[in-house]
This record gives sequence, C-alpha cells and structure tokens, in this order.
Amino acid sequence: MNNNRRTFIKNALFVGLGLGVASRPALASSLTEQSAVKMPLFNPDLARIRQLATSVTGALPVGLNVLSIADTERPANIVVKGAEANRKIKLERTAYQLQYADGTIMLDSGMDEATHLTFGKGGNFYPERYQVLQQALSQAKLIAFSHYHGDHVGGVVRSAELPQLAPKVWLNQLTAQQMVAKPHKPTLKISQQIVDQFIVVDFNQYYPIAPGLVAIKSPGHSADSLMFYIKLESGQEFIHSVDIGWSMENIVKQKMKNASWIKEDEKQLQAQFVWLNHLMATEPTLQVLCSHDALQYQDLRRSKVLGDFYIA
Ligand SMILES: [Zn+2]
Repeated sequence: MNNNRRTFIKNALFVGLGLGVASRPALASSLTEQSAVKMPLFNPDLARIRQLATSVTGALPVGLNVLSIADTERPANIVVKGAEANRKIKLERTAYQLQYADGTIMLDSGMDEATHLTFGKGGNFYPERYQVLQQALSQAKLIAFSHYHGDHVGGVVRSAELPQLAPKVWLNQLTAQQMVAKPHKPTLKISQQIVDQFIVVDFNQYYPIAPGLVAIKSPGHSADSLMFYIKLESGQEFIHSVDIGWSMENIVKQKMKNASWIKEDEKQLQAQFVWLNHLMATEPTLQVLCSHDALQYQDLRRSKVLGDFYIA
C-alpha cells in the first residue's frame, strides 16, 4: 500500500490536471454527444455515498472478510499494458463476506472448479476453500453480485443449493439480463425462472443495499459492473473496485489490461482510475480493494484489515 501511495504522489499532478478546466474542451470534443449522454464519465460523489451508507437503519458491519478459492499467474504484460513480458503477476479469485452482528452479506460468489478450468490453463483451485465458500453462501442473508463474469457469479450459479440461494441474490438489472441472454462461460447457463427469483434492482447511480453497503454503477470493465462502498462500525471504509483493474498496478499506474479476450471501455476505466487514485491520496480512512490482487490479499489479511471467512 505504501508503494501504491508513493507511486500515486508521482501521478498526483497529472490527476489534478485531468480534473482541471484546461483539459475539458479536449475531453468533450473526443466524445460524441450521444455517447456522452449515454455514459457520463465516472465521477461519483463520495459525500452522497457516505450519506447513503447510513440511510438504511441498522448497525454497521463489524468486519469485512475475504477468501480466495483459486489463483493463477499471468505475464505482467497481459495484466498491465506496457509491463514486462518476463515478469509474472499472481492473481487471486476472491469472494468477500461482510460480517454484521446478526448475519452476513456476500459480495460475489467465486466459482466452482469446472468454471475455473474455462479460465485457461494453469492455476490452482482449492476445493476445501470452495467448501467453506459454499457454507458462507448458504449462511448469508444476502449475496450481492458486482457483474456477470464467471469468477464472480459461478459459486451461486453452479451450486447444488441454487434453488435455496436464488431468493437472496441481489443484482442489478443489466447483470440479470446478461446472465440469461449471454452467460460469460458455457458452464453458467441459467434459466429465466431462476433469475425471476433473484432480487433484481434497476437504479441510476448509487443504491444503498444494507447498513454500511452502497452499490455504485461503474460501467467500463463490463457494461453491468458495480463497485461497492463499505463502512464498518470501526470507521474503516472501503471502495471495493472489483475488476476495474486486475491488479492494483492497473489502478496506480492508470494502465489498461492487455488481454485479447476482454473488451473494455477505456474512457470509463481511465476516469475510474483517476477517481480511485484521488481517493487513495485524500481519504486516509478509506482502503481501495481489487478482487484479484494477490499482494493486497496477502497484506490486508496479514494486517487484519480483512478477516477470514466467518462460518457460524
Ligand atoms: Zn473477475
């Protein structure tokens, strides 16, 4: 994290300019009027999000927990455009668990081994951790999906308990549509009848899901992508940026991924990188999370900022 902050200081001037008046005419002229209306560049109002986080009555969560059920190593130049081909970056496949005094909410659901195998050769899958994940899903009061990709929804879609899990799955309308119309992987076909049991929500920018938990619409990685704002009882805050970057290096260096199999909206992601860097520089109580960053997974668990999954 210290390293991220140091790199950020180098970028801070650039970020300042990016938000400045001087760059606005160039930005506006590079967008057609239509696309500017359809997809305004990302610049959420943190004060409004903080207010929404306490708009649902009830006690704030006491902890945020994480579990990785698989990992893989990829050449750095695939994960981060312009990085070295001979360096490897390790990626984790995580799900998060928000712990309240009286229950838990899952943020994404990981994936089963069959879906993991569709993500290419190599990598490790940990069946015993997947069992823990399935227990956590089974005990959760709510399961919120960030976007339709297999490594985020597979743990529910492929679960033997899908009929029991379905009524507590929370997702936005775009994710629900995508899961039926064009599932991310062949293993993830799901019927409209099951999706009809999900809690499908259509909203504009922000949605307060539960005390201390707000979804933020963040199209870019995929059209349906969300980020999550989280506030704990202790005052610790998080922005879970999900897959905006595959690693914190994408975010800190403001560099796109470079994999042939994904199509992202670069303008939106660059605006999201700027916002996340701005938060890292100006909000000392707020930690930016990244689903797949292995170094962060290790560091934040070691420092107890993130806990291990709680199973009742
Ligand atoms: Zn992912």
